[in-house]
Amino acid sequence: MTYEIACMACGTSLYSGFDLRPPGDVLKSAGFRCKSCGAKLSLEKFKVDVRKVDGSYS
Ligand SMILES: [Zn+2]
Repeated sequence: MTYEIACMACGTSLYSGFDLRPPGDVLKSAGFRCKSCGAKLSLEKFKVDVRKVDGSYS
């Protein structure tokens, strides 16, 4: 089971992994900015898209 937190603007995955991390930590490590579309991400406005992804990346 993989969790994914994605930018709500472009859908780019900001984090994916086996552990569900706090959205604040994920946004912080991303610099509160989407690495793909450049959208500013804030905890107040950012709706975190947490997905449970079936399958494997390997
Ligand atoms: Zn984005």
